[in-house]
Amino acid sequence: MTNAKDLIALEDAYGAHNYHPLDVVIEKAKGSWVWDVAGKKYLDLLAAYSAVNQGHCHPRIEATILEQIPKLTLTSRAFRNDKLGPFYKFVTELTGFQRFLPMNTGAEAVETAIKAARKWAYTKKGVAEGRAKILVFENNFHGRTTTIVGFSSDDQYKDGFGPFTPGFEILPYGDADAVTAAMDENVCAILIEPIQGEGGIIIPEDGFLKHLRSLCDQHNALLLCDEIQSGLGRTGKMFAYQHEDIRPDVVIVGKALSGGFYPVSGILADEEVMDVFHPGDHGSTYGGNPVAAAVATTALEVLVDENLVEKSAELGTYAIERLKKLETETDHVKEVRGRGLWIGVELHASAGGARRFCEALEDLGVLCKETHDHVIRIAPPLSISREDLDWGLQMIEDVLKGESSKVEKEAEVAVAG
Ligand SMILES: *Cc1c(COP(=O)(O)O)cnc(C)c1O
Repeated sequence: MTNAKDLIALEDAYGAHNYHPLDVVIEKAKGSWVWDVAGKKYLDLLAAYSAVNQGHCHPRIEATILEQIPKLTLTSRAFRNDKLGPFYKFVTELTGFQRFLPMNTGAEAVETAIKAARKWAYTKKGVAEGRAKILVFENNFHGRTTTIVGFSSDDQYKDGFGPFTPGFEILPYGDADAVTAAMDENVCAILIEPIQGEGGIIIPEDGFLKHLRSLCDQHNALLLCDEIQSGLGRTGKMFAYQHEDIRPDVVIVGKALSGGFYPVSGILADEEVMDVFHPGDHGSTYGGNPVAAAVATTALEVLVDENLVEKSAELGTYAIERLKKLETETDHVKEVRGRGLWIGVELHASAGGARRFCEALEDLGVLCKETHDHVIRIAPPLSISREDLDWGLQMIEDVLKGESSKVEKEAEVAVAG
């Protein structure tokens, strides 16, 4: 059965309805392009929420996984495997942290950071048992576990899933004074996305991260940066916190750590924090398995060898400058903002929501996804060519200027001719 309608019907009939995807059924992909079951080609401007920064089905990562799978896939951490040590060495030397703790999904890595911060609070900072507090921010997205949704400010994420884990305080994102006022002896950590992705590509004012860093230093608390989406080149730096020249105590990574091949996540930290974990304190059956370790090593090598961080900075600056013109050239666009190849096009409420534009783009062969109703998020693979990016930007400009019908006609004429 390869018909899109039938395949969608199967999903609807037998799956949980916890997503509302665009109705494009993808069958294969290469680089920045994907093909649906009818053979129609699309430019991917979402890159699986930045999990495929290296481009779809990257040949080097593919070769690594195909080499590893017939040899050894899983030992569990009851035994050791020959890929884990070399991966630890590579990822820590690349990022400048002393240690790495591997998990699988992003949410698990966030949970790991929370556990590390709490254990650190009790064993190193001297917080009274059960009193440790972590500061988080409105509009955050850190994943979907019950603890994590418990400190979301989005009602839909929490609705019906309580009771929730205590010990979190939600503050306005970017409000330096509010954070200063919230610091007390029980605060063991501040957990932040350096740029909020799901929240709509929200960039805090310059100096905000520096302020958090100095508050953490002053009050002996840990700064935990969730770089699951913003990290690994997306914003034109290896990590988004580098835009402010700070160093967090814990960096949470996932998504592009495997270039889309396999769920791999984890936290980076120095010994002072990582040493709070003793055998039995924390773990994961698949965390650190040899396929994950091999794939993540190659996925990081690709980022470095292909200069994808620098490409993101260059192409991102170009794309943002170009799309910014839409603020004056159309009635729909309120603001274009971004860092690197991570761009939010925020529409006025009068535009009628971002989804209809995403659907119009889908018709034209461009895939992107609205976030928070009024923002079109643009996040292509960092390996995208300037030529492909130009074509995608042209489609976005046409759709937002209401010229898409003209474009479709021209395409038909081109095909007919
Ligand atoms: C995607 C994401 C997560 C959760 O990752 P999963 O792999 O879906 O569990 C957490 N934090 C941020 C910032 C993310 O973008």
